[in-house]
Amino acid sequence: MTPANWFEQEPALQRLMKRQLADAYPRALPRLTQMGAKSANDVTKWSALADHQGPRLVVRNREGQRIDDIEYHPAYHDLMRTSLNHGLHAGPWADPRPGAHVARAAKVIVWYQVDAGHICPVSMTYAIVPALRHQPDVASTWEPMICSSTYDPADLPPSAKAGVTCGMALTEKQGGSDVRANTTRAEPDGEASGSAFRLTGHKWFCSAPMSDAYLMLAQAPGGLSCFLVPRWGPDGTRNPIRIQRLKEKLGDRSNASSEIELADVWGRLIGEEGRGVHTIIEMVNHTRLDCILGSTSIMRQGVAQATWHAAHRAAFGKLLATQPLMANVLADLAVEAEAATVSALRLARAFDAGPGDEHELLLQRLLTPVVKYWACKRAPVHAAESLECLGGNGFVEESNMPRLFRQSPVNGVWEGSGNVICLDVLRALAREPATLDAFWSEVGLADGGDARLARAIDDLHADLKDQATLETRARSLVERMALVFQSSLLVRFAPEAVADAFCGSRLGGGTAAGTFGTLPVGTDTTSILERHTPA
Ligand SMILES: Cc1cc2nc3c(=O)[nH]c(=O)nc-3n(C[C@H](O)[C@H](O)[C@H](O)COP(=O)(O)OP(=O)(O)OC[C@H]3O[C@@H](n4cnc5c(N)ncnc54)[C@H](O)[C@@H]3O)c2cc1C
Repeated sequence: MTPANWFEQEPALQRLMKRQLADAYPRALPRLTQMGAKSANDVTKWSALADHQGPRLVVRNREGQRIDDIEYHPAYHDLMRTSLNHGLHAGPWADPRPGAHVARAAKVIVWYQVDAGHICPVSMTYAIVPALRHQPDVASTWEPMICSSTYDPADLPPSAKAGVTCGMALTEKQGGSDVRANTTRAEPDGEASGSAFRLTGHKWFCSAPMSDAYLMLAQAPGGLSCFLVPRWGPDGTRNPIRIQRLKEKLGDRSNASSEIELADVWGRLIGEEGRGVHTIIEMVNHTRLDCILGSTSIMRQGVAQATWHAAHRAAFGKLLATQPLMANVLADLAVEAEAATVSALRLARAFDAGPGDEHELLLQRLLTPVVKYWACKRAPVHAAESLECLGGNGFVEESNMPRLFRQSPVNGVWEGSGNVICLDVLRALAREPATLDAFWSEVGLADGGDARLARAIDDLHADLKDQATLETRARSLVERMALVFQSSLLVRFAPEAVADAFCGSRLGGGTAAGTFGTLPVGTDTTSILERHTPA
């Protein structure tokens, strides 16, 4: 199934967006429709080409000089151009009005369904801005270039380009979660340099190595620090970032991920020396939001494909979608995707909060890891079940379901794997207890809407108070926080059938294993499927 419009195929997303953006950002809706429609014409083809004929590393030019370049299929550039033209990489910074992060989030959910891989550099470009603002003089140079909506892939110094993209390189061979163990060294670049450094070491993962600049962590004399490392140095020569090889990955194939050596590269200190983690965490938080959007997008695409297939395929004399057991599976997949969508967009609204909006900032701190953990955990099982709904065809590349499935675990690994994310939730609760108060008041807005939710909130209250063995129970607690949050949003904003199905199966009901297709008897699967099946 290739939709005529990737946004309009999604009535549930449209309704959510209309409500979220009606006042704050009405201009976003026609732009979303426009972007969704573009996909009908070209992008299915672009995406297949970009994925099948993935990036190639070109280490040297024909004269033998090192160029460390990445060659992409032209279709990849078409995808990037469209993303940047629509502001997926910087819309909220270029036009920071209320609702801008929500509008961007909806665009990412729509566009990631077309091609996930190229969203990686788009996402890192978006996320670098708040970290760069720790160094206002650097931000004032780079932010206007980042905010340009022109895609310019030329390998030239940034001043000669119409727009730039950015990446990040934290992970080293010995570890990605524990970045404090980084061994890359940063030495001051001459006595009077102040904020200029030379970096030497290696990075085991550096996605989008053709970016114009990267944030990197390295050990400076004052401790682990954050640096902006441009592809071209300030003297107008190529910075010696040596790409060693490209990773052969499970999915995410249109995106290049590389291993790089840093041979005395020039870098500019961002933020305070020795406070690298504090500085780069701003970037990490924004890419975590995008991990949630990506996982949500995978679930939305799974539902669209599975419901459409079942609405058109007959077995044993009846359309699959009308058969009770299949309707249960499809409706279960649909409510999961709707819960992911509503929680992702609600969280994006917290990213729109200004400095004085304490409640939203506290929610952002706690719910970013909570929702990231859960959306990323659900995406792979959701993709597997959606694939199964298409039977044998779902296992065949032409259906696109194998690609969806291969992509589905990536967001769970990137920017904090499951355990690391759960530990981050515990850290937020311990260091900023007000985040939990904000959480209770947010989920309390659904108060009285559903007795099962009220009970789940009480149980969670009690279990979070018990400080013993918190770390061992972290996954179970974070999962329940996510479910309570998602249930509260569905109770407030979704049709009764959706909220009822979700609360009835996720809050103490359903199977212990959480298999899809186990909604309780009496669930209104018909109206759930009407809401989610593409026309
Ligand atoms: C497609 C792709 C692209 C990537 N692109 C980039 C990039 O551009 N830049 C970049 O810097 N990195 C990138 N990464 C790397 C990624 O961020 C790391 O793989 C990730 O942070 C995990 O680090 P690690 O692989 O070293 O695993 P480890 O840190 O060794 O962790 C292994 C496992 O142990 C768990 N674990 C760790 N600590 C604890 C603990 N205290 N308690 C319990 N469990 C724990 C983790 O949750 C994980 O499951 C990319 C990865 C992928 C797959």
